[in-house]
Amino acid sequence: MSTMIGLKCRECGRVYPKEVVFVCEYCFSSVEVEYDYDAIRRALTREVIASRPKSLWRYRELLPIEGDPTVGLFSGFTPLIRANRLAKALGVDELYLKDDSVSHPTLSFKDRVVSVALTRAKELGFDTVACASTGNLAGSVSALGARSSLNRYIFIPADLEVGKVIGSLIYKPNLVAVEGTYDDVNRLCAEIGSKYNWAFVNINIRPYYAEGSKTYGYEIAEQLGWRIPRHIVVPCAGGSLITKIGKAFKEFKLLGLVDGDMPTLYAAQATGCAPIVNTIRERSEIVKPVKPNTIAKSLAIGNPADGYFATKAVLDSGGWADSVSDDEIVEAMKLLGETEGIFTETAGGVTLGVAKKLIEAGRIPRNESIVICITGNGLKTQEPILSRVGAPVKIKASLASFESTLGERLAGEKCRA
Ligand SMILES: *Cc1c(COP(=O)(O)O)cnc(C)c1O
Ligand SMILES: [Zn+2]
Repeated sequence: MSTMIGLKCRECGRVYPKEVVFVCEYCFSSVEVEYDYDAIRRALTREVIASRPKSLWRYRELLPIEGDPTVGLFSGFTPLIRANRLAKALGVDELYLKDDSVSHPTLSFKDRVVSVALTRAKELGFDTVACASTGNLAGSVSALGARSSLNRYIFIPADLEVGKVIGSLIYKPNLVAVEGTYDDVNRLCAEIGSKYNWAFVNINIRPYYAEGSKTYGYEIAEQLGWRIPRHIVVPCAGGSLITKIGKAFKEFKLLGLVDGDMPTLYAAQATGCAPIVNTIRERSEIVKPVKPNTIAKSLAIGNPADGYFATKAVLDSGGWADSVSDDEIVEAMKLLGETEGIFTETAGGVTLGVAKKLIEAGRIPRNESIVICITGNGLKTQEPILSRVGAPVKIKASLASFESTLGERLAGEKCRA
């Protein structure tokens, strides 16, 4: 059974068949998937969802596919962690981390969007998939595409972190490093996409791809015991994830799966690339492109495709936005490691750093529930922290060397001999 009706323009509302359509031919806005919510309401209850395997496909009626899911059967349903030690450090009462740093198979939230995009690409008859990536998408399309026997053309900016490059090459895609920024890569891919009949997951099949992000929001609600948190801090690159988290809660409310107020959304970016944050803080509707310069490369999109919708989602929710410097990003990565034992990538440092700022500024109240979105893994972005985490203590292979070198520490931590 398919609950997907078709595609619909996000501006003028014109409808299109559920094929490869990504811009409205009348107003040039992007299009979005439309569902038959009455049919979904009949099929999808809390009990039905809870009875299914713990993957993002437990919400399949709310995802844009027609047959059975075929890609990413182990993706999604990552932990939602009550973070009491971090809460204490930030001076807040009720804090959660939605931890996609352990996403299967490639350790970032991109496994969600790619599972959906590739399942749909196969349904639409493509044998070649492609993407323009800031790093994590490259790894996920490479890996999930390998298992699906798809040809893969992956385009990245040439200056990516080694962990992201190796984390794609191991799956043997056609990896193309473009001299330029992500925005240059994206422009080139739009040109290539108009000539080659490939499924560019974040370009021509973007309407399907983007829906995968909703599962991040569904899981937060389900894992909170079918509750809506008050505040959610979300990292933004192209602005799709934050927009779709908003849509996820709207849909769950519409279907009666949760009740209560919509969450307040907060956008997090690096100061070196903050086009969405700037637009929100100016309460504007026009996103001004920037030239990125930040260690948070996975978020370094200067001309965000969904910047307008992300801004609208945040302001409509009563939320706000902020950015952090490279230094604050590293400090936040370390804070998360020390308090909660989670090694996040630079994007996670952005999100936590911004959450901390918004709490200190009184924008997020200390006594209400807060979710911080951790979307990627730190093993992929080691360069900026190499010189910032200290070094191991070196000793000779003897008890005497151990005790003479660590003597002070052993006494300080009152270790019993
Ligand atoms: C892609 C990405 C995001 C943001 O995604 P958008 O939907 O483009 O805003 C956030 N975190 C990480 C780690 C990412 O790779
Ligand atoms: Zn239109």
